[in-house]
Amino acid sequence: MYISTRGGNSRFTAAAAIKTGLAPDGGLLVPQELPTLDNSFLNELTALNYHQRAAKILKLFLDDYSESEIDACLKAAYNNIKFNDAAVAPVVKLNDEASVLELWHGPTSAFKDMALQLLPQLLSLALKKTGETAKIVILVATSGDTGKAALEGFADVVQTQIVVFYPHHGVSKIQELQMVTQEGGNVAVAAVKGNFDDTQTGVKLIFNDQGYRAKLEQQGFKLSSANSINWGRLLPQIVYYFSAYADLINQGTIKPKQSVNFVVPTGNFGNILAGYYAKLMGLPINKLICAANNNNVLTEFLRTGIYNRQRDFYKTLSPSMDILISSNLERLLYLVTGDSDKVASWMQELTEQGRYQVDAVSLKAIQQNFWSDWASDELTIETIKDVFDQYHYVMDPHTAVAWRVYTSYRQQTGDTTPTVVVSTASPFKFSESVLTAIAGKGSVNGKNEFDVLRELSRLTGWSIPVPLANLENKEIRHTTVGNKEDMPIIVKQALNR
Ligand SMILES: *Cc1c(COP(=O)(O)O)cnc(C)c1O
Repeated sequence: MYISTRGGNSRFTAAAAIKTGLAPDGGLLVPQELPTLDNSFLNELTALNYHQRAAKILKLFLDDYSESEIDACLKAAYNNIKFNDAAVAPVVKLNDEASVLELWHGPTSAFKDMALQLLPQLLSLALKKTGETAKIVILVATSGDTGKAALEGFADVVQTQIVVFYPHHGVSKIQELQMVTQEGGNVAVAAVKGNFDDTQTGVKLIFNDQGYRAKLEQQGFKLSSANSINWGRLLPQIVYYFSAYADLINQGTIKPKQSVNFVVPTGNFGNILAGYYAKLMGLPINKLICAANNNNVLTEFLRTGIYNRQRDFYKTLSPSMDILISSNLERLLYLVTGDSDKVASWMQELTEQGRYQVDAVSLKAIQQNFWSDWASDELTIETIKDVFDQYHYVMDPHTAVAWRVYTSYRQQTGDTTPTVVVSTASPFKFSESVLTAIAGKGSVNGKNEFDVLRELSRLTGWSIPVPLANLENKEIRHTTVGNKEDMPIIVKQALNR
């Protein structure tokens, strides 16, 4: 069963947790206890493909889903029409110590697909299992990648509607095109004047407005979330940590039982938290290295125990990490303290004072598992160039932040543990930055987005993901731009269309 990080007596089945997204008290849902896996489980994974590995891990958490249901969900999510690599999440070795885990072979070329291809399938079954008759309305606040991945996952899924909000001028041109061209009878997309946190706060306000929700319910609509606070988002992400480990064994990079580090470019703390769950379940992970950009609120927290969101917000070259409130950190605090009263009071301080400080014992426990540093835009660009020159490997800016933080970890600690750097986006998704890094300033001058894609492909020999190339000829279907205050109305209009 699943419980809230902020306490209370409510217990949710997996299906109910996935359906509801957020706990009624505003907390996040977490499993009451975790399965622990032994070495033979890990060894068995080596002989399996991604789909089979996922089935073994998912069923540990979804005991109200049958094996054949889980299988059907996985087939719909990770098939070779949607993913352009048979391995789904391949591991590429760059040198003797470091490999890259590529999480961007899905339909939107970013790691969000790993979760958002599966979540709608799990949710659709959850509606059946819980006897739900209302239409589920997925509200998404996106810093760019989640929105498109959610649209792609939910388009035309029965008994669902999806409304996606993104910060106006806060996402890349390609990301915007991906969203505003989305097809499907149940989708709506709108830009919000403000940054990602404004957008996310607007969605949270809608969720917390009981009167508004009651009115929607009278019309047969119930709100849910596809943001990374939904357990159905986090769970699929646990799989690829195990899968990467099995691949490292198969590639001869590590021996069974050997420890590895993971470096994760982090924003909302969802990806790296899935790694921590994998560790708690028995995967031999030494350190989880949290890589941040100039919005380094998490680096400061992991070093000092002080979470302070009262700071300048920077737009960086790695926009999916431009976040000042990392929602999933709440789950880590709960896992580390086991104390929902403590977690609730820290979250209240964060809301009321914009800051909280964890106690020394909790900080120490966190630091045993996590390490953090950050990289500026300048270093990010330099890293893309260096890695391309040295390995002929093309990194997007988010991945480059992680690689840079990995090199700084390696220097500062001397730790030679085999390391997996998690790669979260195709370089083509952020092609302007990548081309500028590789070919120099001015190399994008006079080129539109698609010229840039072609030039990057020509220079690197890497091929452009087909869905990105196809954007050039797609019709723009969504043009709404509103203020934060308009968001509830935009949702109503989308539902009554
Ligand atoms: C969402 C995203 C991240 C951040 O992941 P979190 O789970 O929010 O920490 C990093 N890189 C890319 C490309 C993303 O889309």
